[in-house]
Amino acid sequence: MFGFFRSIKSSQTAAPEVLDPQTQHQQEREQFQEVLQSFNASRIEERLKVLDIFLSVEEHLTLTGLEGIIRDKRPELLDREFLKETMEMFCQFGFAQKQLFETQEPVYEHHHLGMHHDHFICTRCGNIQEFANDELERLQHEIARQFQFHSLQHKMEIYGLCASCMAQREPALSLQYAANGERVRIVTILGGREVQARLNDMGLAVGTCLEIVSNHSSGPLIVASKGTRLAINAGLAKKIMVAHACRHADEP
Ligand SMILES: [Zn+2]
Ligand SMILES: [Zn+2]
Ligand SMILES: [Zn+2]
Repeated sequence: MFGFFRSIKSSQTAAPEVLDPQTQHQQEREQFQEVLQSFNASRIEERLKVLDIFLSVEEHLTLTGLEGIIRDKRPELLDREFLKETMEMFCQFGFAQKQLFETQEPVYEHHHLGMHHDHFICTRCGNIQEFANDELERLQHEIARQFQFHSLQHKMEIYGLCASCMAQREPALSLQYAANGERVRIVTILGGREVQARLNDMGLAVGTCLEIVSNHSSGPLIVASKGTRLAINAGLAKKIMVAHACRHADEP
């Protein structure tokens, strides 16, 4: 067991070797087998089969997603509790990482030693994209240094809409479908004079820019306009059509 952790450590401090995926996969498999044996773990052969499948998928996988793949490829291993326990072992021994993104089931991804990346998370379709940017990493260290903060690790998660969700999006949508944190501009108000008057009383009219403070299925929609928070009920939100980008960047 000591040997295993020592070898992990030494490969972490050295510059990561670039191995072809198959060799890397094979190495990880051997290391995992070694650890499991050193712990007298149960069902080692089956766990290695799960590892093979996990390593063959270059995606962020939920437990449900993994179950789907197992159902196709190795139905004999289909047992949610066993799969969950095995994935937790992968994480514990450094072969996988569990990521908890907001609004999503936890996802598992490969843990490649010495490699770091950050994430874009689409709040509409759940798509997760990875990115790595040396300049951003350098800047984060630089900022930490200015605060005399010794950073050990970080996660950067950027929430928003992915390119395909943006492309599918209607140019104008009802306010009720706007996402948390989004800035929108009122383009049309549906409904008669009564609705217009009610909105006018709240200081809202065509052209007004809003920031979506909170849009959840329960409770009213909270928006900010000109520094004030306004609560808009679902019935009224339906009648307000907005464009997804506020062109007046200076207006809150
Ligand atoms: Zn980063
Ligand atoms: Zn998306
Ligand atoms: Zn990732």
